[in-house]
Amino acid sequence: MRPRTNRDDYHTMSREQQVNLIRLRTGHNRLNDYMNRKFKLAPSPTCACGQEDQTAEHILQRRPLLDEERKEVWPSPTPLQTKLYGSRQELEKTTTFITSAGLIV
Ligand SMILES: [Zn+2]
Repeated sequence: MRPRTNRDDYHTMSREQQVNLIRLRTGHNRLNDYMNRKFKLAPSPTCACGQEDQTAEHILQRRPLLDEERKEVWPSPTPLQTKLYGSRQELEKTTTFITSAGLIV
């Protein structure tokens, strides 16, 4: 057996988890920012909280309405880079957060 090449842990996750991560990573998702700018399918790029554009970074890092869910998953502040490109354990946290927040990305 050859040693495993150093593939992104994303490849070991479920299809649903992969889809969520890819959408968050690329910004090609159903969040308002992209749906408004790209397709005009959302009336505005702004998040329903009114604070800023609804991007993956806003959802994962700052959206006030998700503070509780965010603290459950990440008790201490975690960089966006880690949430989207970290170890399998980190990626699992991100997909858990999306699911527990009831978000469709
Ligand atoms: Zn918001």
